[in-house]
Amino acid sequence: MTNSQTPSVRIIGKPGSSVAYTIRDFLHRSDVPFEWIEVHDDQQAREHAGVEGIKDSRLPVCIFPDGTRLECPTIRQITEKLGWFRDPSRSEYDLAIYGAGPAGLSAAVYGASEGLKTVVIEKFTVGGQAGSSSKIENYLGFPKGISGNELAERAREQAAKFGAEILLARAGVRAEFQVGKGVGYLADGTKIIARAAICATGVAYRRLDLPNEDALAGAGVYYGAGASEASLCWNDDVYVIGGGNSAGQAAMYFSRFARNVTVIIRGGSLKATLSNYLVDRITSSPNITVLAFTQVTALLGDPILESITLTNVKTGEERTVSTRWLFVCIGGDPRTQWAQDIGIMRDEAGYLMTGPDLMDHSKPPANWPLDRMPYYLETNVPGMFAAGDVRHGSVKRCASAVGEGAMAVTFIHRYLASG
Ligand SMILES: Cc1cc2nc3c(=O)[nH]c(=O)nc-3n(C[C@H](O)[C@H](O)[C@H](O)COP(=O)(O)OP(=O)(O)OC[C@H]3O[C@@H](n4cnc5c(N)ncnc54)[C@H](O)[C@@H]3O)c2cc1C
Repeated sequence: MTNSQTPSVRIIGKPGSSVAYTIRDFLHRSDVPFEWIEVHDDQQAREHAGVEGIKDSRLPVCIFPDGTRLECPTIRQITEKLGWFRDPSRSEYDLAIYGAGPAGLSAAVYGASEGLKTVVIEKFTVGGQAGSSSKIENYLGFPKGISGNELAERAREQAAKFGAEILLARAGVRAEFQVGKGVGYLADGTKIIARAAICATGVAYRRLDLPNEDALAGAGVYYGAGASEASLCWNDDVYVIGGGNSAGQAAMYFSRFARNVTVIIRGGSLKATLSNYLVDRITSSPNITVLAFTQVTALLGDPILESITLTNVKTGEERTVSTRWLFVCIGGDPRTQWAQDIGIMRDEAGYLMTGPDLMDHSKPPANWPLDRMPYYLETNVPGMFAAGDVRHGSVKRCASAVGEGAMAVTFIHRYLASG
């Protein structure tokens, strides 16, 4: 898509703009250099963005290296401007993959390189959760670690080299299956027809379910590691909620920029939930504090986060601390209602059931129509596979998502060969 030599996109907007945050997040994950120019009053808004004032609804304004100006653009408009928005080139594919995280991109590389006409549909940009990680250190072959956006960009390039089509800023919303053919409906009305499909839609970040949360999302409250925001936290106090590896990585990354980083966990220690290498680094970082037995119970501020209330889960004691930065890294939930609507089996949490997990006393489910048993990553609809975090029982790691994407393609060859 781009490289470090590409001139920057300038984004000019006011503090706490959730639209501006989404654009920064998109460009960061897509490995496109950008410059964020924050305007605080009417004069600055006029001078830098050419709008009437700080309340002008045309903010944020994006100015591209060729001088093109987009006012309060959608991600689709940005994708179009970058030349990445495309329509499907075929009326029918061998393989449609939903989601361009590690599982989907891996399936795209194997599918396309093994001769399948492959299309990938991605609702945001490549990389998925991994794309938001500042540094993945346990992925094989990268002893010094690699940032999620670089890993994603390399994978995208590899998939594209083998001929996979990647449709960005398009979400799958509904599906139908006929014998030997699946039809996916995208949010913009596009129809994707394919002989086999892989659902690799991962999980969506879990929220805190607090009042005010929607209004403050992107305006002080961020989900995932928020790598695009780190340099903006310079000398500020940052709070990270969560005890898993994503929270640990985020804390380490922010500690390079922030004055203090506080990691908030409900349990007593990070040791049970975090990889050893991260526990060691966090404990030895002078500007990271771990706040155990604590929960965030209120978000205060309008229109930008100003403070949060911390409650001790053992004693009930409450205190309010000032901050403009709260990063929520408490895992995610699959969004698979569409699957339930067409009879694809899910577990109680909404993860898709596949292969051996579908069996009951060695028998396939009652609605399984074939004589053979479902393949390992196949759902109870023949030809519809699931890979990565969205799959029931999957290991929530990049390497396993990549492995499952590759495996799913092997089973798809068998499925397609059997007619
Ligand atoms: C901050 C962070 C750091 C992490 N660090 C590590 C690490 O160091 N090592 C490690 O092994 N693992 C790490 N993980 C976990 C790892 O990133 C995930 O296990 C992995 O990304 C799962 O890959 P996936 O492809 O299954 O799903 P995801 O990565 O969740 O990708 C799913 C993709 O599907 C897209 N999508 C969703 N719905 C739709 C739809 N309806 N239509 C089209 N597209 C859709 C999403 O936009 C997304 O791009 C980290 C996770 C996070 C959040």
